Formats: sequence, C-alpha cells, structure tokens
Amino acid sequence: FSSVEITGHLLGRIEQLDGNYNSFITVTPEQALQQAAAADERLTAGGAPALCGVPLAHKDIFCTEGVRTSCGSKMLDNFTPPYDATVVENFNNAGAVTLGKTNMDEFAMGSSNETSYYGPVKNPWNTNCVPGGSSGGSAAAVAAQLAPGATATDTGGSIRQPAALTNTTGLKPTYGRVSRWGMIAFASSLDQGGPIARNAEDAAYLLSAMAGHDPKDSTSLYRPVPDYTAGLNGDIAGLRIGVPAEYFSDDLNPQVAARVQDALKEYEKLGAQLVEVSLPHTHLAVPAYYVIAPAEASANLSRFDGVRYGHRCEDPRDLRDLYMRSRGEGFGEEVQRRILVGTYALSAGYYDAYYNKAQQVRRLIKQDFVQAFEKVDVIMGPTTPSPAFALGEKKADPVAMYLEDIYTIAANLAGLPGMSLPCGLVNNLPVGLQIIGNYLDEARMLNVAHRYQ
Ligand code: GLN
Repeated sequence: FSSVEITGHLLGRIEQLDGNYNSFITVTPEQALQQAAAADERLTAGGAPALCGVPLAHKDIFCTEGVRTSCGSKMLDNFTPPYDATVVENFNNAGAVTLGKTNMDEFAMGSSNETSYYGPVKNPWNTNCVPGGSSGGSAAAVAAQLAPGATATDTGGSIRQPAALTNTTGLKPTYGRVSRWGMIAFASSLDQGGPIARNAEDAAYLLSAMAGHDPKDSTSLYRPVPDYTAGLNGDIAGLRIGVPAEYFSDDLNPQVAARVQDALKEYEKLGAQLVEVSLPHTHLAVPAYYVIAPAEASANLSRFDGVRYGHRCEDPRDLRDLYMRSRGEGFGEEVQRRILVGTYALSAGYYDAYYNKAQQVRRLIKQDFVQAFEKVDVIMGPTTPSPAFALGEKKADPVAMYLEDIYTIAANLAGLPGMSLPCGLVNNLPVGLQIIGNYLDEARMLNVAHRYQ
C-alpha cells in the first residue's frame, strides 16, 4: 500500500469511529494527505528512512506549525504556533505523516483525561471507562487502531499509565533523552516526551526518531542515539530483574498482581532471574511529586497572562483585572488547584517546610534506585494499582486520582526511563507490566519487552 492509501484509510477510521472515543482534538486531513504524497515520492526514489510515510498522531502538547495546539485547555483554544516542536520536526524530517493532535488532560494534569477542555476520552476497551491520562488521547487512538503510533509525554506517569489502561506499549525515556523544545511545559525537571505504540518494536522505531541532543533544550543530553531496533531480539538469559516488595503492597488489586506475577514467571522461563529489591521511600513519591510538580507548574504557567497569546477576557478594566479574569476563565479547576498549591509551597514562609523538604525526599528516592541497580539490570512491577476505572469515579476526589500514579511517579523524580507493556486482562480490561531501567538503558528495556511480546 502507498502512504496515501494508508493515510486515507486511517483518516476514514477517525472520521467514522472517533465520535465514540474523542481521542483527537484536531484532525488535519489535507496536510496529512500532502505529507503522504511527498512520502510516497521519497519511497519511490529509494533510501527513505524507516518511518517515511507512516501516519502518526501527536499529543496536543507538542507545538505544530500552523496547526492549533491547545494543550487541552481553553487558555490555548485559539493558539496556533508559528513553529514545530523538535520532536515534531524530527518526525517530519523522517517523512512521517501527521494525522492530527490528540486529546489530553488540561496542561497534562490528570490521570483520566477528564480535565480536558474538549471533553473526556473514552477507553476503546470499554467506553464507560477512562483511558488514563494525561496522554489518554494518544493511548486511545493507538488502541482503537486510528493511528499505529503516537507521541505522548510523562511528567508523573502520563505515558505509562494510559498505555497500561489501553493495552498499548508506552515508553518514558531517561530525562533529557528527548528534546522538550516546543513541548508546552508542565514541570520542567520531570517532563519527558516518548512514544505510545502497539508493541515494543514499533516504540523502538518511534524513539529512534524522537531521541537526540537538541541545542535548543539546555537539559537535553549530549549522547549518541543508539539504533533502538537493532537489539530487540537479543538473548535475555541471565537478566537480573529486580522485584520491589513495595510495588506489591495492599494498594494493589490482587488480580492485577496475579497478571504481573504471571509475566514475571514468563521471564524466568526466558532465563531471567528474579531478585528481591527494596525501594524503601516509595510511599513518599506521590507526596513529594505533588509539591514539586505544582511548584514548577505555577512558575511555568505564569506566562499565560492574557497579554501575548492565549485566552484574553473581554473588556478588562485594568491590568490586574486582565490577569485575573483571563486566567480565571482560561484555566480549569485542576490547573487552578495546582497553581494555588505550587504558589503556596514556593512562598517565602513555606519554602523550607515544603519545597526544600520535597527536594530532599526526591534525592532519597533516587538513591533507592541507584542502590537497587547495583544488584539488578531492570526493575519490574505493576504500572497501575488497578485496571481502568469508570468515567466520573475519581473525578471529585483529587487524592484518589493522584494515587493512580503510585508506581510510576518515582521514575520521574529519579529521571529514570520507564515503560509499560500489556500483560493480560482483568474483567476484560488491560493490565500493564512496568519496566524501570537504569539511566539511558532504553535499548535494553525495549529488548526485554520485545522478548516477552
Ligand atoms: N497524573 C499526574 C498528574 O496529574 C501525572 C501527569 C503527567 O505525567 N503529565 O500530575
């Protein structure tokens, strides 16, 4: 098939089916078909890169030149960036086709995709359930076969948790592996882009195109990018898998635990060795994250002031009124909650008690992993404490929602790569197996995931 034919087929599926899922905020058919025609020419000429002609979807947090980039917020409902994010540029250079922009929690704050200004995303496995978040649109689009792969971001689980809830494979790279330039900032020391795909092999192709040093992002790493597809079939006999006791606590649904244990047994059959490890500060990850992430968010979101771009209120009386009403109208409830919490934690009288304390806890959490990786090659456990929950179930209870990420957030605080891959069903809903790797060990993680799939 030509890229034009495949792209046309997927655009048709989106048109026909996405009314059920709401996984896209914007679909760009004309642009997609133009890109596909150009890709077909490159493919005919020969020597085109692996992703040439492959249709993808981008989370609406990545800036796209000439295409509205809303970040799931009313604040940016009218924002059309004049440039592409580096990740998007990399895919364009590789000849990939952009089908459109996927739905997400507002400013990536959420674990259910219910905070989006554009309405919730429905889980293709059961449309009464959430797909997870914040990259719920990307995960649902891949799960519903509206796109073979999609970009996503993970500040505290937002690639891995929706991947787990939709039976897709998602990878959050090492902090700094993928450029954040043009990716709308939530919490800059935690944010990292990565792929959601149908399996580890596809994720490897996507990551190979996304990763790399970018002079426009001062935190991006100066390290060569390996070919992530090269080692997928490598033997994993002798692999040491760390199994943290803390990831199998009472919070974990027993049926989810059983699926994860089955997967670990499969790994033993493949020659891997299970090693008990301890990550004693695990229970502090969520509390530390909910100080650090809102603190950084409160600073990052100060740029949305109604002056330069984004939502502006009608007829402001004065500058203060302009700020207050533009921000009050443009930001949803969860975003406002984060700004308030973050501003409080950073204020002079509370800085040491909250922000500094959280940074100290962050160091302890990182230290736990450094010690564990002296004994093991990868760490495995569940991605989430339970399968997908019902729409509306946790919406009114922010703390219940925050606990969705008890197993994912520590990797963000430590800057480590993490991925989620499908490992069976519970009541016909998907369960995710999480792999946490050592710094820059994405190639090994993809190999380990691929051997199981
Ligand atoms: N669920 C977490 C939050 O709401 C993580 C979100 C994310 O990773 N972007 O902050």
